[in-house]
Amino acid sequence: MAESGKVSCNCGACALELNDVQPKMSLLCACEDCRQAVHWAAKHGAATPKDIIYSVYFRSDFAAFHGVENMFACQLRADAKSTRILCKSCYSCIGIDHKVSYSDHVFMFQPDHCKADFDTDVTPIAAINLIDYPHHLAPIPSELLPVFHTFRYPQERARFVAIDPVFEVFAPPKTPPQGQTIRELIAALPAARVLDLAPGEQP
Ligand SMILES: [Zn+2]
Ligand SMILES: [Zn+2]
Repeated sequence: MAESGKVSCNCGACALELNDVQPKMSLLCACEDCRQAVHWAAKHGAATPKDIIYSVYFRSDFAAFHGVENMFACQLRADAKSTRILCKSCYSCIGIDHKVSYSDHVFMFQPDHCKADFDTDVTPIAAINLIDYPHHLAPIPSELLPVFHTFRYPQERARFVAIDPVFEVFAPPKTPPQGQTIRELIAALPAARVLDLAPGEQP
């Protein structure tokens, strides 16, 4: 039986209660979308943004959603692939869905931008999207960590999926979820707020 635990916003007004707190993997993401989102949230009082963000993946399977009335969904642009769930009061992001990659099998959150009552530390398996890193060279914690500049080429995506455990993380789980999923939560929230941030714009 997997252990359960909560990811909450920094003010405690809302939380996701996970049925499985085992991290599936972590990445260091330098993409512009993540950075624009945390800068926008920081303007409203959320945690200080970082340029390369520690991002951890967990199963999309929840025992409960707490303070749903205090959450809102947002997207950077109308054609965005990611939907972020934020707190209306403190603007912490407590969960992210990606409509292409995650398939509602997993969701992601960034522990530097919210709170978790379980261990979210797991060695990153790659640093990704460094083409968007705004300074000269990103600080990569290990010389052995695979680096992906973009996923523009199918060859790069294939090299990424070949890293253990990427394929398995995004593959359909072997058992159905015991509870609700991230997309069920997003469907229950009012339509995602579109921030309409232009690519390249620092909010
Ligand atoms: Zn909050
Ligand atoms: Zn990102």
